[in-house]
Amino acid sequence: MIKIKRVTVISAIATNCYIVWSEGRTDAVIVDPGAEYEKIVRVLHENGLTAKAVLLTHAHYDHCNAAARFQKDGCTVYLHSSDVYLLESGENLAWRHGIEFENFRPDVLLEDGTVINECGMTFTTLHTPGHTGGSVCFVTENTIFSGDTLFYMTVGRTDFATGSQSSLIASVRNKLFALDGDYTVCPGHGDITTLDFERKYNPYV
Ligand SMILES: [Zn+2]
Ligand SMILES: [Zn+2]
Repeated sequence: MIKIKRVTVISAIATNCYIVWSEGRTDAVIVDPGAEYEKIVRVLHENGLTAKAVLLTHAHYDHCNAAARFQKDGCTVYLHSSDVYLLESGENLAWRHGIEFENFRPDVLLEDGTVINECGMTFTTLHTPGHTGGSVCFVTENTIFSGDTLFYMTVGRTDFATGSQSSLIASVRNKLFALDGDYTVCPGHGDITTLDFERKYNPYV
């Protein structure tokens, strides 16, 4: 059984960072540490956990600006190859918000279908371009970490660098809604939802 703790970072835009671990273990995966390294570490400690890996749904600063700090702590950082461009070009939106970006090089470049084995858990990578060219969702057990691809009752913006609305809709329909059965969906912002609920009620897909 996986356990999940949500840590909301950057109060202005409320990015969801998730700490994920296998019940009974003390090593954890961090999905999208966008900022507030100390706050995330505090929640890790409160739960008796040590971070071992950082899984990034995409390279916008609000999802990855604490990745460098965790990497220095020894975490393996995973990012889709197509989003490396956002790190190198400065198109990670940090400058637009007047925020200093702590750059890093991902340790592992993801592709569609990459299976990540970390901390006794298995995450399958689904490449879901649209919000950015290298956006991915991570599937583990009955949970999807959907980043800025799919939200409760809405979808991610597509007006940033490498965004594409038609790709995003196709990604949600063909990669996420095409999965068998129901899943808990943990998005990059806003409320946790389910795949069935979004199949029925999401007005954008
Ligand atoms: Zn984003
Ligand atoms: Zn975001």
